[in-house]
Amino acid sequence: MARTKLFRAPLKYVQGKDALLSFYEETKDLGTSYLFICSNSGYKSCQENLKKSFENSACTLRFEIFGGISSNGEINKMREIVQADNIEVVVGIGGGSAIDTAKATAFYEKRPVVIIPTVCATDAPCTGLSVIYNDDGSFDTYLFYPRNPEAVIVDTRIIANAPAKFLVAGMGDALGTYFEARACVRTDAPSLENGGITLSAMALCELCYKTLLKCGSQAKQACENHLVTPAFEAIVEANTYLSGVGADNGGLAVAHSVYNGFTALSECEKTMHGSLVAFGTITQLVIENAPKEEIKEVMDFCHSVGLPLTLEEVGVTDVSRVRIAAEKACIPGETIHNMVGDVTPEQLYDALLAADLLGRQYLAL
Ligand SMILES: [Zn+2]
Repeated sequence: MARTKLFRAPLKYVQGKDALLSFYEETKDLGTSYLFICSNSGYKSCQENLKKSFENSACTLRFEIFGGISSNGEINKMREIVQADNIEVVVGIGGGSAIDTAKATAFYEKRPVVIIPTVCATDAPCTGLSVIYNDDGSFDTYLFYPRNPEAVIVDTRIIANAPAKFLVAGMGDALGTYFEARACVRTDAPSLENGGITLSAMALCELCYKTLLKCGSQAKQACENHLVTPAFEAIVEANTYLSGVGADNGGLAVAHSVYNGFTALSECEKTMHGSLVAFGTITQLVIENAPKEEIKEVMDFCHSVGLPLTLEEVGVTDVSRVRIAAEKACIPGETIHNMVGDVTPEQLYDALLAADLLGRQYLAL
């Protein structure tokens, strides 16, 4: 019998230039005392307009600069602040780690959480889960929540002022969404929310991929010049909402396991999540023996926005190290096991090297 279908999303999604000026308006029903867990740059870019939006309110605001990774140590620190200050609303401002820490803090303290992404580099804002890391920065586990954030508020002026490499990485993360969901549908594997995959989720995943193809390179160009154009707005929505909600309800497969696997390699420490997901997507297509035209379309896209096509571009120069990543990518519980016929570390190793060959061939043309 097929799995019961399930679809979840943030209660509210707000996106626009200077959207932070309406932050209070959009969240005032949630409480009156706010803790803002901010990345360093997130604090700088957001606090002024946030304070402005609260100008005529009686709310109390506490800003905490967060410098670390989303580890249990950091989460516990924030929980203590929530308890000591009687915080009613937790807000995460920044990239993946500040957001994941805010979501975990809110979950453990049973508070609503609002997310303000300051870069569009990952699926973190809209999903109902956090990625938890060990203190050494390697992947530990996914932490699943009973619901998605109460609100996600994206100020596109802030995203356009962030380095374009984040937007590009976000497109890499978004690139996996459709192909990973498609793989899960084929095996009736569960989504990240542990439900069957709805038509609605697949529609978002497909739109995500189409939007990347249509607007990706124009959006990158806009971001490099700090311009908010319709193509840029479309990619912000694709990276944040379509990819986040799509992955949450569509499930993951090879591409994200490849990322998790490569977190075991110190030489990939600086490689962004989305870059590895993009390379992992091509690897997944190799494993699926996907039509040549499809692989070419994906590689053309990656090349057009500057996503990696080779192992060297994700930071690996010693190919023997790929076996370590392949082993880690295939540990029990990894989403790679959602594939038809499953995948062994040996098969993944071969597919990674085959993807690398395709990439090197492509770049030599
Ligand atoms: Zn991701």
